[in-house]
Amino acid sequence: MIQEKKKAFNNFAVAKGLRSTRQRDIILDTFLSTNQHISVEELYLKIKSGNQGIGQATVYRTLKLFTEAGLAREILLNDGQTRYEHVIAGEHHDHLVCTGCNAIIEFEDETIEKLQKDIAARQGFHMRSHKLEIYGLCIKCRH
Ligand SMILES: [Zn+2]
Ligand SMILES: [Zn+2]
Ligand SMILES: [Zn+2]
Repeated sequence: MIQEKKKAFNNFAVAKGLRSTRQRDIILDTFLSTNQHISVEELYLKIKSGNQGIGQATVYRTLKLFTEAGLAREILLNDGQTRYEHVIAGEHHDHLVCTGCNAIIEFEDETIEKLQKDIAARQGFHMRSHKLEIYGLCIKCRH
């Protein structure tokens, strides 16, 4: 699974004419070994412990590249922060984002998924992807 993703990213990098770099490999390895919904800063701190040379700006740019390559997905938090998660082939979910504690709750609803496709189709629009983020307060923050 991880090997496949690395391959996919390498193909993307070659197609874009990007040179492979050791730094990017380290960032990719670390990202692929993390859990979901990681922020740039969290990923940077994980990398920093073993590799002093990699700056936060590089981590940020590389995550953008992973997103472009279809390896990562961005989730925008209310405070302007972005979190990243792995894109798993064939898997899809949307998010409830708490503006109080930044908790991210995943959900999937067939009715909503179908409705979105119908809306697009009605406009003669070919939907390639979508993301749905619902902002509000989670059950803990409401009390
Ligand atoms: Zn969805
Ligand atoms: Zn909350
Ligand atoms: Zn998610």
